Amino acid sequence: MSSFDVAVVGLGALGSATVAALARRGASVVGIEQFELGHGRGASHDTSRILRHSYHTPAYVALTKEAYADWAALELASGTTLVTTTGGLDLFPANAAIPMSDYVAAMDAEGVRYEELDTPEVSSRWPGLHPPAGTLALYQADAAIVPAGRGTLVCQHLAATHGANLVTGTPVTGIKPSRTGIEVLTRRGSFSVGSVVVTADAWTQSLLEPFGVRLGLTVTEEQVSYFAPQRPQDFAVGAFPVWIWMDDPSFYGFPAYGDATVKAAQDCGGPVVSADQRSGRADPEMLRRLTDFLAMLAPGSGRSVGSRRCLYTLTPDRDFVLSPIPEEPRVVVGLGAAHGFKFAPTFGRRLADVALGGVPGPELDPFRLDRPALRDPSHTSKWLV
Ligand SMILES: Cc1cc2nc3c(=O)[nH]c(=O)nc-3n(C[C@H](O)[C@H](O)[C@H](O)COP(=O)(O)OP(=O)(O)OC[C@H]3O[C@@H](n4cnc5c(N)ncnc54)[C@H](O)[C@@H]3O)c2cc1C
Repeated sequence: MSSFDVAVVGLGALGSATVAALARRGASVVGIEQFELGHGRGASHDTSRILRHSYHTPAYVALTKEAYADWAALELASGTTLVTTTGGLDLFPANAAIPMSDYVAAMDAEGVRYEELDTPEVSSRWPGLHPPAGTLALYQADAAIVPAGRGTLVCQHLAATHGANLVTGTPVTGIKPSRTGIEVLTRRGSFSVGSVVVTADAWTQSLLEPFGVRLGLTVTEEQVSYFAPQRPQDFAVGAFPVWIWMDDPSFYGFPAYGDATVKAAQDCGGPVVSADQRSGRADPEMLRRLTDFLAMLAPGSGRSVGSRRCLYTLTPDRDFVLSPIPEEPRVVVGLGAAHGFKFAPTFGRRLADVALGGVPGPELDPFRLDRPALRDPSHTSKWLV
């Protein structure tokens, strides 16, 4: 039995950022991961993730301001460049399933600048994009790419250099509160800690069951695919933005990043799986759907050169969880609801605050564990936001 101030369960992006934040504050912390660091079975691997201000509620837009500041702080602390600014386009076809007005109102409420563009303006500014007539777009110049696997590794490195203990190949099998502290159980022994942060994403539900917490999570196995454009110069950063197609089905994509290929994917297009029963194999039907869509929007994307699978963990309302368990506040939960990577350093800072005894402010109310959407089994899931 070894003792620490805090244990963090799961060393994906959120857990690694939390361990780094705690260690940098001088707390004694152990980060426990069931697999090896940098594995590809969860949600934080692969090359890139979108960082953006454009969101559908003022609460999220406000949190994105923290995210940009926290990424800048992480770059400073690690001495590495992590944010590649590309500009971002939210594309709303005629009768889009996702209302543009939500995004306009949210960014206006938070004073975030953007441009409203029509189809011809989009096509003339970005030759790689051919949206259908009647498409409107919101362009936000600060949208960027942050590195998924590399960003997570940077947090793990920062944590280790500040004295954190990172334990791998060690599944946590239980969390047992007692009057004097909390015991974190593993098959290789247990840890006695003052508080626990659970950042286990697709594996979260089973760890919280003993506390009577049901989150109504749905885990899907998503797929991203890479394409080799005929004219790479039309898809380079500066000539091509990150983009999101705000309809049902919804798709998103990136300019070339790290090499000459471009990446794209469908949002919430994968089959429902359990965390341990994912296939990991490329899905030809998902690739066909994406390729058909790109043939319309970005016909120069070229032929596909590879795909990767990755897990989404969806709450019923697709809102985050960033909250202590009300009945056991020494256990704190962080869950990104399949759009949390851009907020990883912010999750890290905020979860560390709460794990060290801080009380979450009202701005985090939308992410509480006891919100109706998580407590009411009859809540209708809504994932496209
Ligand atoms: C295809 C795809 C595209 C995405 N695009 C974006 C994007 O553009 N922008 C964005 O902001 N977000 C995006 N996301 C979402 C984002 O990647 C995730 O929200 C984020 O990575 C979640 O990080 P995590 O640390 O919570 O989860 P994970 O990386 O899955 O980490 C959880 C860790 O907990 C470990 N674990 C679980 N149970 C236990 C246990 N009992 N004991 C020990 N360890 C355990 C797991 O092994 C795992 O390593 C995307 C996700 C996917 C899949």
